[in-house]
Amino acid sequence: MTDPRKALVVPPGRDWSLADVDPRDTSLVGDKEKAKERLAADADSIAEWQEKLFAERRHALLVILQGTDTSGKDGTIRGVFGRTGPMGLAVTAFGRPTPEELAHDFLWRIHAACPRRGLIGVFNRSHYEDVLVGRVRKLADPETIERRFRQIVEFEEMVASSTTILKIMLHISKDEQRERLRARLDDPEKTWKFDPGDVEDRRHWDEYQAAYQEVLVRTSTKIAPWYVVPADRKWARNALVAGLVRRTLEDMAPRYPKPDFDPADIRID
Ligand code: AMP
Ligand code: MG
Repeated sequence: MTDPRKALVVPPGRDWSLADVDPRDTSLVGDKEKAKERLAADADSIAEWQEKLFAERRHALLVILQGTDTSGKDGTIRGVFGRTGPMGLAVTAFGRPTPEELAHDFLWRIHAACPRRGLIGVFNRSHYEDVLVGRVRKLADPETIERRFRQIVEFEEMVASSTTILKIMLHISKDEQRERLRARLDDPEKTWKFDPGDVEDRRHWDEYQAAYQEVLVRTSTKIAPWYVVPADRKWARNALVAGLVRRTLEDMAPRYPKPDFDPADIRID
């Protein structure tokens, strides 16, 4: 697989259209079998890099996952980080803000969940909900939403001083979402995942796509660019996300620290 970053990035400061991304596209990963092999190899590599990141404790990695309901955020985390030691991961899912969270600024809970040096943090939803659902469901007035765009960019720039930020949107089609919602209703072991609110959000599909378009273009920055992953095919999605994470860690290139003593000098009785 060639580096998926070039093909998937939302180029900062340039014209780009979400509608041009085909959610069914698998051309970057080859066939299903190859993609699964790739995923397994990258998931192992991610686990190895994570050990070095942890040992070095100089930087953190924050992976932000966004996508509509049923886009596969949970499954992606399982597939990509399933081989990484649990001590090295800090996964946070963001739901509707609690009264306590609403009593603070919208970034308060986000900042508190950012990974410390040495960890890989994964956000299942994020501060981007505040400009997505916030806009579509009119939870805040337009001036507030507008202000948040600027605040998000500045916040990420600050976080980036200790943390590499990788922002990934899982892009599914409206038809695929229907299938997945249906599957949740038909399979008793999946019904717990069904949220009647998802059907209501689906009625606002076009508005969400428009909100995503704006968010992706306005907040893809050099320091924290967005990548949009075609996600109708779970195997292609997982292989692509693992490829993005593995390459990002490779560029961060954490190393085991050198001890400040000579191991040969140490006597253990
Ligand atoms: P789920 O990811 O299925 O557990 O659902 C979480 C729900 O919380 C989704 O409907 C999100 O849109 C909603 N949510 C997450 N963050 C916010 C936010 N900042 N404001 C309003 N709703 C949110
Ligand atoms: Mg939901």
